[in-house]
Amino acid sequence: MLNLPPRLLVLVAAALAVIPALTWACSAGADVFTWRGFSRFSGFAAAGLFAVSMLLMMRLTWLDRAFRGLGHVYQAHHALGVAGFLLLLVHPLALALGAFLVEPAAALRLLWPDPSSATVFSGWIALLLFLFFFIVTVAQHMPFHRWRRWHRAMGLAYGAMVWHLVAAYRGSLAAGLALGLVALGVLGFAHRLLVEDPPGRGLRYRITRVRRRGPKVVDLVLEPLDKELRFEAGQFVYLAMRDSPDYQACGESHPYTLTGRPDDPCLHVSVKSLGFCTRHIQEVTVGTEAVVQGPFGGLFPAQAQHRPQVWIGGGIGITPFLGRVSILAADGPPIDIVYCAGNEAAALYLEDLRELTRDRAKVHIHTMYEDTDGLPTVPAIESRVGSLEGRELMLAGPPAMVESLRRALRAHGVPASRIHAEEGMAR
Ligand SMILES: Cc1cc2nc3c(=O)[nH]c(=O)nc-3n(C[C@H](O)[C@H](O)[C@H](O)COP(=O)(O)OP(=O)(O)OC[C@H]3O[C@@H](n4cnc5c(N)ncnc54)[C@H](O)[C@@H]3O)c2cc1C
Repeated sequence: MLNLPPRLLVLVAAALAVIPALTWACSAGADVFTWRGFSRFSGFAAAGLFAVSMLLMMRLTWLDRAFRGLGHVYQAHHALGVAGFLLLLVHPLALALGAFLVEPAAALRLLWPDPSSATVFSGWIALLLFLFFFIVTVAQHMPFHRWRRWHRAMGLAYGAMVWHLVAAYRGSLAAGLALGLVALGVLGFAHRLLVEDPPGRGLRYRITRVRRRGPKVVDLVLEPLDKELRFEAGQFVYLAMRDSPDYQACGESHPYTLTGRPDDPCLHVSVKSLGFCTRHIQEVTVGTEAVVQGPFGGLFPAQAQHRPQVWIGGGIGITPFLGRVSILAADGPPIDIVYCAGNEAAALYLEDLRELTRDRAKVHIHTMYEDTDGLPTVPAIESRVGSLEGRELMLAGPPAMVESLRRALRAHGVPASRIHAEEGMAR
């Protein structure tokens, strides 16, 4: 397996994406240095970036491993998509500017959305669709399931871009390469839509135990119906329930952390009601079948495992640590666990943590309750665990908590390489 840092992998992906544009540039001679040439280059580059971005929306375990976490794959998907979008804007602007500098009226003629010109018309359709979907999908406050639907609809804009590519550039080597890459992107998109997202695909399990932990949290135990999932402690899976005679599933798969031991054939998850699907899961009954995809996860990178660590879990974000403590070696590095919750009653897994770490002298558990201690801050954490100098920090919890802690830790001088979270998973 390629062992490159995720940032370098993003550059590798970007380099792959611009191959058609570079191929065109190599064959275009002096045309490259004109506005028209710049426009073509940006058009090919945008198409390549969108194509590779589509490939990076796939939920594949080998991509998760290569990028050290599915979140990094999604971040790369996002970065390449945004870069493609910016170049897509440059494409008609550079074309228009080149024409305008020769004769102002020519710019208008060139870009007028004339339906009889497939090239111009398809270009306009693609541009408008991309603009529309980009504006919609940056709306962070939209409920997640609705956002996801709009984001997927961006496939329409991608389709219009393919139409434009075929209409405008067919015949050249660069266009062939771009279309090849774009076809791969279509396959990536189709894989996500038809293979990964439908809740019927994956390993089959059955719920054997349902335990209510609180008004909004349920613990589930699932036994394998055929092959067992192999995973590392602290990883997560995408889990979807199936309909059963006394349970109607929400029809979607969502990420949940495995809280059990990797050598246990049964899977253990704890689910907090936070929205449509997790509310449904609170009602699940023994005997319901479930489908599991994964495992994924980059919260505990190999290079950090032998160093002193501080784990900070907020609310249901304690789950990766519940999974991880179960496999800690007695002679492992010192670990401080900070369990952040609204109050003592909301720290549902505190006793489990204490039980699991009873004979681990190097593991210390601390609590931080919002009602009495306020939100977690770096000084409050250091007052419990001591200096953070030289320690690896693993963060899990509500995205807002993880983001604010990360910023505070960076401002405190903790290097980014020592801060670990399932980045990029929120959207
Ligand atoms: C790596 C990871 C591990 C997780 N582990 C657990 C766990 O062990 N127990 C638990 O209760 N919850 C866990 N969650 C959160 C859980 O996935 C969400 O609460 C659930 O997806 C919400 O779905 P919903 O339909 O109920 O609510 P929605 O209304 O769809 O979403 C509520 C919020 O959940 C987040 N969310 C929803 N779907 C996804 C998704 N597919 N990917 C990322 N974020 C999403 C969004 O930020 C959204 O604002 C985990 C999330 C991630 C990313």
